[in-house]
Amino acid sequence: MKITRVKLTRLCRPLEPAFAAAWDPVSRSMFEATLVTVETDEGVCGYGSGDTMDGFENFDHLFVGKDPLRILHHVRTLETITFHAGKYWPLEAALWDIVGKVTEQPVALHFGGALERIPAYASFGELKDPAAYVETVLGAMEHGFKAVKIRMARDRIEQGVQAVAAIREAAGEDIDIMVDLNQMWRTSGDIAPALDLMSVRQVACRLRELGVLWLEEPLAPTDIVGARMVRAQTGMRIAGGEMVRSLAELAQLVDQDAFDIYQPDVVLSVGLHRTRFIAELAQLHNRFFTPHTWSNGLGLLANLHVVAGVGGGPYIEFPYDPPGWTPARRDFFLADTLDIESDGCLAVPSCPGLGAVVDFDAIAYYEV
Ligand SMILES: [Mg+2]
Repeated sequence: MKITRVKLTRLCRPLEPAFAAAWDPVSRSMFEATLVTVETDEGVCGYGSGDTMDGFENFDHLFVGKDPLRILHHVRTLETITFHAGKYWPLEAALWDIVGKVTEQPVALHFGGALERIPAYASFGELKDPAAYVETVLGAMEHGFKAVKIRMARDRIEQGVQAVAAIREAAGEDIDIMVDLNQMWRTSGDIAPALDLMSVRQVACRLRELGVLWLEEPLAPTDIVGARMVRAQTGMRIAGGEMVRSLAELAQLVDQDAFDIYQPDVVLSVGLHRTRFIAELAQLHNRFFTPHTWSNGLGLLANLHVVAGVGGGPYIEFPYDPPGWTPARRDFFLADTLDIESDGCLAVPSCPGLGAVVDFDAIAYYEV
């Protein structure tokens, strides 16, 4: 089998202005999606998405004419490109989609097949005041979620802690709450200093008292010593690593015991195959792997297959923040919208490949 073409389709997703304003400054990935279609001479097509693929046109000759099933060959090629240009991991997702279709198995089986479904947490995007957060969380619980993650602005810490306290009071003990300070995930141009160690220690203590499951990216990306100190001194679990750009850096983070929870996004960080290595390394050290998934439904599917395959968890991130960010808006170019089941779990599609059904009418409508 040979790759005959790698086709990129650039799409602009529908987004309510109010939601976009709440993400000020907004990431491009909130508005845009690129669908990668890998075509083969045997008629099998693979689909992937998640990163912008800007500039990939200069490198597609490295893949056309090659056997799509030689995954590690392609992973190594993509790593050499990442050194010089962009991260093109959605292409690897599309290749795995082909592997699954050719072998007539879900991709998760190729990653170990440890789980067929996994609990999902509702991951909110908007920054809200405490009362609005309570309403959002209660709505998510009604939908079936048993866990939620809220964002906390570093210049509005007090309001964030109050929001967690209000959520805990309204929702009780039957829900896991996570908090993201986004000190490593930065929008382009955000060069404001990260919170200092003392401030982080103080907020971690307060969140620990409120029973928060993990605190995400509370410090600057270089402050591994600080992350370890906060964990040891407060008993608060620390999560991070969602956008680390190389396998070596991720492996070093695990080796240094930087976090309790490792979160590389398979389509935005180091790809599917390399993430399996990191996930198993983290598990070997008795730490958690649960990926970041904020791109679109196809990106979420790629992460779902890997985390279920390796038996990660305890949850998978499920971007969900109605009315601005709904599964339909997130998965706007898929015919089947992903959603949780009534017990709060997300099931791995049992069909061959990643299980995405592309809506070609939507593609035609939203293509730019
Ligand atoms: Mg995060």
